[in-house]
Amino acid sequence: RSSLSPLHKINAVINSYAIARQREIETLQKNAEFRREFIADISHELKTPIFATQGYIHTLLDGAMDDKAVRMKFLKRAAKSLDSLDVLVQDLLTLNQMESGVIKFNFSDFDLKELILEVMEQLEHKASKRKVAIHFDFDQEKNHTTHADRQKIFRVCQNLIFNAVKYNHEGGDVKIHLKVQKNSLLVEVKDNGPGIPPEDLKRIFERFYRVEKSRSKKEGGTGLGLAIAKHILEGHKSKINVASTLGKGSVFSFSLPLEKEKKTSEKEAPTAQ
Ligand code: ADP
Repeated sequence: RSSLSPLHKINAVINSYAIARQREIETLQKNAEFRREFIADISHELKTPIFATQGYIHTLLDGAMDDKAVRMKFLKRAAKSLDSLDVLVQDLLTLNQMESGVIKFNFSDFDLKELILEVMEQLEHKASKRKVAIHFDFDQEKNHTTHADRQKIFRVCQNLIFNAVKYNHEGGDVKIHLKVQKNSLLVEVKDNGPGIPPEDLKRIFERFYRVEKSRSKKEGGTGLGLAIAKHILEGHKSKINVASTLGKGSVFSFSLPLEKEKKTSEKEAPTAQ
């Protein structure tokens, strides 16, 4: 069928081999660049809590030890810096595992409404400190069972709800909606905080990207939460959506599959003692 001469055929094979090799080289170069950037970012982020801890300890050694009140103040600050270092390292490990695809997902059936209530309970103290009210809207009559990795989805909800609290104005509101759709459950976390500028909106899922550096660091943010959340949802073949209006607030949302079979049996099951 082919009218190509043997020489042409050899040429075509060599060409396609060269193109494939070129692509491989480009991928390797991109990976190397990615690694370099990642290491630069990490070093930069690690420096902050390390420098802070060093500063407090050296101040203590230089004489602040003698006064009990001052000693306690600096020790508490050093402990806080070390705690944030610990959170950062944990987040980095998680993100690294996610990006290299080695992390395992443990899927099970669970009630998404219950999970959200648990997250709210955990964040209650932080919200009341900022005078932020968290409202949760769901239909009591409906089934909210999903099939997902509970621990990881907990992490996603924790991140979205905590962000809605910590980036909100004092006295602001956070509204969580859990909507039952045909085959899925939609979670929406809405705040009436400052909103996110359009040019930042497309970058907030990048590791270490922060809109307001000072605010995020003050609140103990690592700039990794949304990057981790995005990976977790990708592992569920889902994604996070965000819409934001400057001065009005932001809405983050995602959906998970609805497990329909459990509906009646669960509703009527006697409560175990
Ligand atoms: P961080 O640990 O800094 O909170 P995230 O990855 O969770 O990191 O968020 C990235 C950045 O996106 C934050 O530093 C903040 O600037 C911005 N952001 C996230 N959620 C909100 C929100 N609800 N309102 C305003 N800005 C937000």
